[in-house]
Amino acid sequence: MIETDILIAGGGIAGMSAAARFAADGHRIMIVDPAPADIGEGTDLRTTAFLQPGIETLKKAGVWDAIKPTGAELRVMRIVDAGGNELAPRETADFDGAETTQGFFGWNVSNKAARVSLMAKLETLPNVDFRFSTTVTGFTGTARYGEATLSGGETVRAKLVVAADGRNSSLREFAGIKHRRWAYDQSALVFVVTHDKPHDNISTEIHRTGGPLTLVPMPDLDGKPCSSVVWMTPADRAQQLYNMDDATLSAEITHDTMSMFGPLTVASPRAVWPMISQVPSRLISARLALVAEAAHVVPPIGAQGLNMSLHDIETLAELMAKAKLKGDDIGATTLLKSYERRQLPKTLARVGGIDLLNRASMFEPKTLRDLRYVGLSALNRIGPLRKLAIKVGVGK
Ligand SMILES: Cc1cc2nc3c(=O)[nH]c(=O)nc-3n(C[C@H](O)[C@H](O)[C@H](O)COP(=O)(O)OP(=O)(O)OC[C@H]3O[C@@H](n4cnc5c(N)ncnc54)[C@H](O)[C@@H]3O)c2cc1C
Repeated sequence: MIETDILIAGGGIAGMSAAARFAADGHRIMIVDPAPADIGEGTDLRTTAFLQPGIETLKKAGVWDAIKPTGAELRVMRIVDAGGNELAPRETADFDGAETTQGFFGWNVSNKAARVSLMAKLETLPNVDFRFSTTVTGFTGTARYGEATLSGGETVRAKLVVAADGRNSSLREFAGIKHRRWAYDQSALVFVVTHDKPHDNISTEIHRTGGPLTLVPMPDLDGKPCSSVVWMTPADRAQQLYNMDDATLSAEITHDTMSMFGPLTVASPRAVWPMISQVPSRLISARLALVAEAAHVVPPIGAQGLNMSLHDIETLAELMAKAKLKGDDIGATTLLKSYERRQLPKTLARVGGIDLLNRASMFEPKTLRDLRYVGLSALNRIGPLRKLAIKVGVGK
């Protein structure tokens, strides 16, 4: 029998961030993931736009200084509506980070680089025990502890078990927590491009039909300006784009970005992500808290997914720090109920809001696209709406 304070199931970016953040407050952590110890940077081709509140959590976790130099600043969020008869920008709204207290919106980092920095940090922490090639195979929560079985045959007793085991969370299943998932017949194609014109640290989201085409600033690649692409489009079109050779895909994206960046050149392999949303009925059960994609999945609009996850982690960390200070139990039902009260309404509101935005970005009929254009114009020109957009963009 192994005893620890917190057992984290899942060593993705969210699970590792949770381990570093909780360890910084002096808790003993065991984190388990089926991936082998030599996984290195992994195979995830996505990038993450870390927004300000998430960055604060990574600072408290002691990893931000290592992650920051691998990414690029997001100074301006640009939204372009190109939903008219012709493929041309008809409204461009710039939300400038200078209008925020910190002066920028966030930082775009490749998931590979984030993973390497997080793993390096966890290796240095004496209170973190990272078990690779290991899966949580069972879980029971009692009044006194959570008990989990591992694929190697061991049993772990923890004051709290944190499920960061992704969208198909086994822990959620073991605890009997139901969830609702819906799909969009839409996929996101992700890859990296280089271009002639500099991005000037502007993240550009173009709306026409089928979903947004977003270019997010990256550090220069081979001396050329570089951006990561998230191209959300109907699933069959995403597959067509995925199957194109580099030259054809480069021409296609140059066309759809209306040459705003000059000619674009595909500079990485690509991956396709089917778009879904997902919410659970509860975020807790006895001695268990769901975080990250175990607790919410959203389409990648407004860089919310992992940032919501860091918010889950920060909320839990704050509640546990208070309990620890008072000598209280960090896995008590009262604490878990506070976590759920704080996170579940926000989670449901954000998943619902992103769902609406995604549906609006997919509009095919011209009248609906015109309605979206009116909405963006209002957001751009009406002061209080602009302020609200900046607040959401900043991750608050
Ligand atoms: C195209 C795209 C772009 C995105 N861009 C952004 C962005 O800019 N900003 C942002 O905030 N978010 C973004 N997101 C969302 C973000 O990428 C995800 O939220 C995040 O990567 C998911 O991380 P996770 O750790 O929750 O899940 P995962 O990465 O799925 O990790 C779960 C881990 O749990 C492990 N596991 C599974 N079962 C078990 C078990 N039984 N026991 C132990 N371990 C287990 C798995 O091996 C895995 O390592 C994007 C998403 C997509 C699809």
